[in-house]
Amino acid sequence: MTMTDSALFTTYARAPLAFERGEGAYLWSTDGRRYLDFMAGIAVNALGHAHPHLVEAVKSQAEKLWHVSNIFQIPDGERLAERLCEATFADRVFFTNSGAEAVEAAIKTARRYHFAKGQPERTRIVTVSGAFHGRTLATIAAGGQEKYLEGFGPKAPGFEQVAYGDDKALEHWIADPETAAVLIEPVQGEGGVRAFPLEVLKDLRRRCDETGVLLVLDEVQTGVGRTGHLFAHEAAGITPDIMAVAKGIGGGFPVGACLATAEAASGMVPGTHGSTFGGNPMAMAVANAVLDVVLDEDFLPHVRRVAGYLNQRLGGLVDSFPDVFADQRGTGLILGLKAKLPNTEIIAAAREEGLLVAGAGDNVVRLLPPLIITEAEVDAAVDLLERAAARVRAAHAAKGAA
Ligand SMILES: *Cc1c(COP(=O)(O)O)cnc(C)c1O
Repeated sequence: MTMTDSALFTTYARAPLAFERGEGAYLWSTDGRRYLDFMAGIAVNALGHAHPHLVEAVKSQAEKLWHVSNIFQIPDGERLAERLCEATFADRVFFTNSGAEAVEAAIKTARRYHFAKGQPERTRIVTVSGAFHGRTLATIAAGGQEKYLEGFGPKAPGFEQVAYGDDKALEHWIADPETAAVLIEPVQGEGGVRAFPLEVLKDLRRRCDETGVLLVLDEVQTGVGRTGHLFAHEAAGITPDIMAVAKGIGGGFPVGACLATAEAASGMVPGTHGSTFGGNPMAMAVANAVLDVVLDEDFLPHVRRVAGYLNQRLGGLVDSFPDVFADQRGTGLILGLKAKLPNTEIIAAAREEGLLVAGAGDNVVRLLPPLIITEAEVDAAVDLLERAAARVRAAHAAKGAA
């Protein structure tokens, strides 16, 4: 079947490439080629492909129990929630199946908190330009990007967006008595791998504390070890009131979670929220297995070490190709190369060389390798990126000469 007569919605601009299997940081396509995977399903395959501990968790759970309704106890979900609370600021967890649902749960939790405290007028959620929070009707309103809102009817009310870096506007809305929460990604992923300075995060925490506005972090992409911390906000020495998590937490199995302090979650009483699939035994078994690995005391030090190495190698790449790359950004293993030539061409050239990398806003090439990568794999990836950069540069030089 060709692309045009596919029975699928045409919502994705898919590359003409399909994969059959994966192992660690590598994927094999259906036509037998090997690819080094430095996008990891957009930060989802945190432990790479076919990690033995996750494979074992899926197999043994599949033989026991897949799904029960949330009207019953789910012991593995209790255990996962306890472990997440033990490892973070949180006291309560609500499980979802995706990032957008985790953000939706976070938004509902924030509004419901103020409602329960007798301030039902506090509904406004303040976000920052360049944000990405998902594709549901509420999360496209939160993200505020016209390209995702267009044609889908009235934008859900109650969201206010300030320009990235406009501290005055942020301050203004935090002081407003109808503001419920500020919602931000500590490092904007889709938006172009833009990390908020740690001072800005600290300041935001302080201002929210002064006015009773809740601080909600979207760590769907930055969480579960991606930045070298279990969660990105730890680098700033702050804690949020509510946090959305997904992507890496399932290691490739759909799992999301909304974490909150007991206080922030106090409005979410029986009947206020629910999900048929959220927190099902399969998902809980896999996410517990992911935590087994990520919470090992050697894991995050490994991420920090290999991330430092990748960052250093990318610095060399930017220096060698000043006509292709403007700068490098990001932190840990969420890194970006701001391109001077179209990022789509660099991504396509990398793929032809056997390296998978993602795009991001602001003409950025985004690197999100599995957290288990080795220095040898970093060297291999940078070699392939060099070849891709040389190829794109040559193509543009030829065009310029013609
Ligand atoms: C991917 C992402 C989402 C949406 O997650 P889905 O699982 O696609 O719904 C939300 N926020 C951030 C920061 C993301 O990177």
